[in-house]
Amino acid sequence: MTSNDTIFGKIIRGEIPSKKIYEDVDLLAFDDIHPVADVHFLIIPKKFIATLADVTPEDATLLGKMLLLAPVLAKEQGLTDGFRTAINTGRMGRQDVYHLHIHVFGNRPGSVPLSTMTGA
Ligand code: 5GP
Repeated sequence: MTSNDTIFGKIIRGEIPSKKIYEDVDLLAFDDIHPVADVHFLIIPKKFIATLADVTPEDATLLGKMLLLAPVLAKEQGLTDGFRTAINTGRMGRQDVYHLHIHVFGNRPGSVPLSTMTGA
């Protein structure tokens, strides 16, 4: 599979619209189309990596950039009192889009905290 085959590949190339909140040479972040909280966005690498299980030591800097960006954008989006991150990986991890992404989501201060994760 190449990035051409995923929805996120199409978003990177501008072939389908998205609500972008950040872009640089390596990364893109945009709102999730089906938010599960007040704020819910995705951080993706422009490089095609299908899943977290496919990363190599070569990707260390890129992965670091993705994680460093999460709290910066979370704060910009109003998540000033905490947020949740998730990387669903593979079939058993319930990954739907096979282009690596970090979910960042949460409710704004004054709203209710996210419910506890059951793990089920
Ligand atoms: P996964 O289950 O792979 O971790 O999450 C994929 C996420 O991508 C889902 O939360 C889903 O709502 C989001 N998504 C799927 N298709 C689109 C799309 O076309 N545009 C945007 N912005 N998000 C999408």
